[in-house]
Amino acid sequence: MKNKNTLYRLFEFAESCKGLLLSSVVFAVLGAGFGIVPYVAVSRIIIQICAGDYSLKSIILMAVIALLGYLLQLGLSTVSTVRSHRAAFTVLKNIRTALTKKLSRVPMGFVLDTPSGKFKTMLVDTVEKLELPLAHMIPELTANIMIPVLMLIYFMFLDWRLALIALATFPIGMLCYMGMMKDYEKRYDRVIKAAKAMDAATVEYIGGIEVVKAFNQSSDSYRKYAEAVKENENSKSEWFKKTNPYYAAGIAIAPSSLIGVLPVGSLFYIGGSISAGSFISCIILSLGLIAPLIQALRYTDSLAMVDATVKEIGSLLDTEEMERPKKRAHLKGENIEFYNVSFSYKDTEVLHSISFEANENEMTALVGPSGSGKSTVARLIASFWNAGSGTVKIGGVDVQNIPLSQVMEHVSYVSQDNYLFHLSIRENIRIGKPDATDAEIEQAAKKASCHDFIKALPQGYDTVAGDGGNNLSGGEKQRIAIARAILKDSPIIVLDEATAFTDPENEAVIQRSIGELVAGKTLIVIAHRLSTITMADKIIVMNHGHIEAEGGHQSLLESCELYRTLWNAHISVSDKKENGLTSTAALGETV
Ligand code: ADP
Repeated sequence: MKNKNTLYRLFEFAESCKGLLLSSVVFAVLGAGFGIVPYVAVSRIIIQICAGDYSLKSIILMAVIALLGYLLQLGLSTVSTVRSHRAAFTVLKNIRTALTKKLSRVPMGFVLDTPSGKFKTMLVDTVEKLELPLAHMIPELTANIMIPVLMLIYFMFLDWRLALIALATFPIGMLCYMGMMKDYEKRYDRVIKAAKAMDAATVEYIGGIEVVKAFNQSSDSYRKYAEAVKENENSKSEWFKKTNPYYAAGIAIAPSSLIGVLPVGSLFYIGGSISAGSFISCIILSLGLIAPLIQALRYTDSLAMVDATVKEIGSLLDTEEMERPKKRAHLKGENIEFYNVSFSYKDTEVLHSISFEANENEMTALVGPSGSGKSTVARLIASFWNAGSGTVKIGGVDVQNIPLSQVMEHVSYVSQDNYLFHLSIRENIRIGKPDATDAEIEQAAKKASCHDFIKALPQGYDTVAGDGGNNLSGGEKQRIAIARAILKDSPIIVLDEATAFTDPENEAVIQRSIGELVAGKTLIVIAHRLSTITMADKIIVMNHGHIEAEGGHQSLLESCELYRTLWNAHISVSDKKENGLTSTAALGETV
């Protein structure tokens, strides 16, 4: 898979539209072939008139041939363009399909770690950039190279000396072109990087606008966005400054083939070595010779862009996938075991050789200060990543030997960030079990204590949750996520209990919902409010990526200093809460 070059990749994406591409090339070549006909016909007319050897019939015949040649060129290149467009749309579709398929195979953690703006930019904008060059390159590049080459052959046939003189300015143009291409890739790379950074900064700025406004942080977060916009402008200006003078010089010098053809041709004519008709034809030919070649050179810009874009797409397609077997594993029970598991985010190890067991039919709670590694443990159970070293087992089998689909089937991971799709609440719950009946959905909602608030919504279960569930409270979203998990009825449930929704009323209902989840299952709760887990069968106290202690609530209170501190902090916040003194900040500090 690695290091595929751009052309190879494009051919891969074009596999399903090979026929279209090939026929587009054939029509483009035929069109270009006919493109020379008007030049030849017109020059024949001129030569005949100048030689005084013409008849009305022969002139009309040549004019008709010129017109036919022109129409055929137009018709064939249009057919070629239509075909190349259809091929380009297919290639774009294939790239997008490959990218989305890839996203489903890379570790979930990779998806979480990548800003969502980046995927959006890649799938929508980056891929779209390929449409124009891919759709136009075949017909236009073919015509722009072939027609001048054919014209040159005819030019040579008329007068090879003038043909060479007409070409003399082209090498100067090429020198300008080479000047333009110096460090081109590096400059272009900067332009692309800056554009991407601006896209990501824009998405982030707009996405976080609520927080920005609430905390009156507009100047700070705006700075990041403004810097990205500035860099985008600077990179483009630099690119333009360094590219354009060469380009302008090339455009001005290269096509001025008349500079040589006119004086030298006149001398030849005076000397009698060229007829008036051929001389005039040569002037016409030299007028149209270079411009298409320059036009063709412009495509190097597009080619550099295609190359950079395909490489960028390729880098995502080459992301390492999660290697898991296809064959279902035979699990013995639903226990979860960690043996000496270490895990690093990039170069920072955050779990250091931890071992524990979470038993079937039991509730195991993970507690510890913020950043101690609780969520990372939860995500390793759900196979968002593979452990760096050590083994994570489900039902006695190393998760690396269990197909990802089987892990997903066995584990319900209720995260803090419960995304609701822009669908009805009913359909949002149904995601837990696609073939669930409406009655099953309502029953799960009742167990998750969300039936009442759903019923109170304007359209009940048919109320559409806004984008990401924005029109529901955090607590409500979490309860809907719990209803999904209840409906899914998987034997292992990992609940990353949300920190944000700590009003006592909500806490009580969430606790009831958790009670519904636990029956007959392996339940792992990442607890941010210790009162919800005092009844847990096992509490694992984490600190700086280590397990500090494990046991029941009472025994930990007696034996574990850290647990006691966490508990006291929790109690004192609860007390303040009861006395109406609580603040969101204080609650946030309990973890
Ligand atoms: P907890 O759930 O106990 O708050 P986490 O498991 O979320 O702890 O985090 C453990 C450590 O790993 C923290 O230092 C955190 O900053 C870091 N961390 C968490 N997620 C990521 C991530 N996606 N990329 C890099 N570091 C991360």
